Amino acid sequence: MNFSSKLLEDAVNEFSKLPGVGQKTALRLVLHLLNKEKEEVNLFGNTLIRLKAEIKNCNICRNISDHVICEICSSNKRDKETICVVEDTRDVMAIENTGQYFGVYHVLGGLISPMDGVGPADLFIDGLVDRVAAGGVKEIILALSPNMEGDTTLFYLYKRLKEFNVPITTIARGIAFGGELEYTDEITLGRSIITRVPYETAMMK
Ligand SMILES: [Zn+2]
Repeated sequence: MNFSSKLLEDAVNEFSKLPGVGQKTALRLVLHLLNKEKEEVNLFGNTLIRLKAEIKNCNICRNISDHVICEICSSNKRDKETICVVEDTRDVMAIENTGQYFGVYHVLGGLISPMDGVGPADLFIDGLVDRVAAGGVKEIILALSPNMEGDTTLFYLYKRLKEFNVPITTIARGIAFGGELEYTDEITLGRSIITRVPYETAMMK
C-alpha cells in the first residue's frame, strides 16, 4: 500500500496489528477517525491510554477491575464459599450474563497448553490453591472450555486441589467439543452451571 503520508501509514500499521483487522479495514478506520472532531479523537486515544494505565487485576480473583478488589469479590451479596474457575475475563462476563451464578470467581489467565509453551507456572494457579488452602471454600466449579487445553487444565487442577477435600464440580458437557465458553448461548451456559456434576463423574463418561 502506497501512503501519501508517513503519519497515515503509521496509524494504519497500528490498527492492522489488531486481530482480524487487515490493511484495508485499518485504512477505513483511520480515515473515519480523521474525519471526526478533534475532541472525539482525543477521547478515543485517551480512553485507550487510561485503560492500559489504570486497569487492575483483582488481588483475589485476578478478574479485570477498576479497583484492587473487584466488585464481585467485594460484594456481600456473593457466596464466597463457592469459587468458579475460568480461563479469562470473557468467561466471567458470559457466566454473569446468565444470571444463574452467585458465587465468586477465579480467573486463571489462560489454559495449560504445552504446544503453545504455556505451563501451570504461567497461570494464576498457585493463587487458587492458596485460596482453597486458606479454608472456607465449600465448592470449586471448574468452568473451562471443553477442548484439549481445557481438559488438560481440568486434570491438573483436580490433582492440585483434591487434597483439600473440597467438592470439585465441572460444568455439564452440553457444549460441543472444541467450543469456546464465551460463544455458548446464555441459556445453555446457565443450565450447564446449574446441572454441574462432580469432576470424577464427568471424567468417567
Ligand atoms: Zn475479584
